[in-house]
Amino acid sequence: MSDEIIRATAANAQIRAFACNTRETVETARQIHNTSPVITAALGRLLSGGLMMGAMMKGEQDLLTLQIKGDGPVRGLCVTADSTGHVKGYPVVPDVILPANGIGKLDVAGAVGKGTLTVIKDMGLKEPYSGQVELQTGEIAEDITYYFAASEQVPSCVGLGVLMNKDNTVRQAGGFIVQLMPFAGEDVIERLEENIKAIKPVTTMLDEGCTVQDLLQIVLNGFDVEFNDSMPAAYRCDCSETRVERALISIGKGQLREMIDDGKEITVDCQFCGKQYTFSVEDLQKLYDIAVRP
Ligand code: ZN
Repeated sequence: MSDEIIRATAANAQIRAFACNTRETVETARQIHNTSPVITAALGRLLSGGLMMGAMMKGEQDLLTLQIKGDGPVRGLCVTADSTGHVKGYPVVPDVILPANGIGKLDVAGAVGKGTLTVIKDMGLKEPYSGQVELQTGEIAEDITYYFAASEQVPSCVGLGVLMNKDNTVRQAGGFIVQLMPFAGEDVIERLEENIKAIKPVTTMLDEGCTVQDLLQIVLNGFDVEFNDSMPAAYRCDCSETRVERALISIGKGQLREMIDDGKEITVDCQFCGKQYTFSVEDLQKLYDIAVRP
């Protein structure tokens, strides 16, 4: 089954909810970056959260970026999603190996450490919106929950999970985000809190055969749930030679001059998909000419 994101409302729109399954997306990321299991889990959770947060944006050109910087061995993670189900991301250090945590799970918090989560929304305005919070646990779902509360004042519950096969490929991945609208009643809040306390981990539910619709039905048990729409989700990198050229021009004529004087071709790797772009000295000279053009 290919990946998808669904959107729903419940309790007469006092609740809005998103859910996604992302097994293929996270497995693609694992193969591109050759991540160790704990980093597959960390990146997979962030990719899943990013996909749903991207789907919250309105414009087709809108972009959402989630940046984690931490003092743990992965050092950082970055994910960018659009509003139409495409996501890409990378870990700074992909091959971190850590023992399981106290409850026998992949130690994502140990890999991430203490640090910050930054959310950048580029909605085509002059200045992109950006909000930053301290990491609460480094487990990512709790950190995104805290971001929504502290930075956007939207009470939310976020569940994210990645489950691995014995051969370290991705067995299940996905998540949900449930948000309370400002006019949500006390009874709705209480019922939702009870539900959240009772649910199993996301990947357990997916592994038991739950669809994303089932997932939201369980989280929103007792509410009338209205499913609004669904869209396919996938890992996609939109890098191109033109984009890399623009990036090279933007580093400035001084550095370009140095590269030309070195007299060697250079190779630039895309951080998101690993694609390599090679520039000869003549190519670099052309970019230099553009950079110095008044
Ligand atoms: Zn790329």
